[in-house]
Amino acid sequence: MTLFEKIAARKIPAEIIAEGTEWIAFRDIAPQAPVHFLVVPKHCIPRINEATASDAELLGTLLAAAASTARQEGLGDSGYRIVINNGTDGGETVPHLHIHVLGGRPMKWPPG
Ligand code: AMP
Repeated sequence: MTLFEKIAARKIPAEIIAEGTEWIAFRDIAPQAPVHFLVVPKHCIPRINEATASDAELLGTLLAAAASTARQEGLGDSGYRIVINNGTDGGETVPHLHIHVLGGRPMKWPPG
C-alpha cells in the first residue's frame, strides 16, 4: 500500500476534509500556504505521466473535487493554485498521484 492508500484506508492519521467514492482530500502535513490540501485518488496511479486515456474520467473527477473542496475551504473568491508534481525534476516525493491545492496568500510566478 502507498502512504496515501494508507491514509484513505484510515491506517495512518490525516486531517481529511472531503471525500468521494473515488477520491479523498486531506491537509498537507507540511503546508506551504495557509490552506494546503491534497486531492488523491483512492486507486493508485503513481504519477500523471503514467495516466492513460482510461483514467480520463477519474482525472476529471479529481479536478472537480479539487475545485469543490477549494470552495468549501473558502478559497473560491480569493483564488488558489493547483499543482501536480511529476517525477524527480517535478519535485514529486510521494509516488501516488495527488493534486496540491494551495491558497490563502498570493502566489508568485514562475514558481521556481
Ligand atoms: P509531492 O512532493 O508533490 O510528491 O507532494 C507530497 C506531499 O505529501 C508533500 O507536500 C508532503 O508534505 C505531503 N505529505 C507527506 N506525508 C504526508 C502525510 N502523512 N499526511 C499529509 N501529507 C503528507
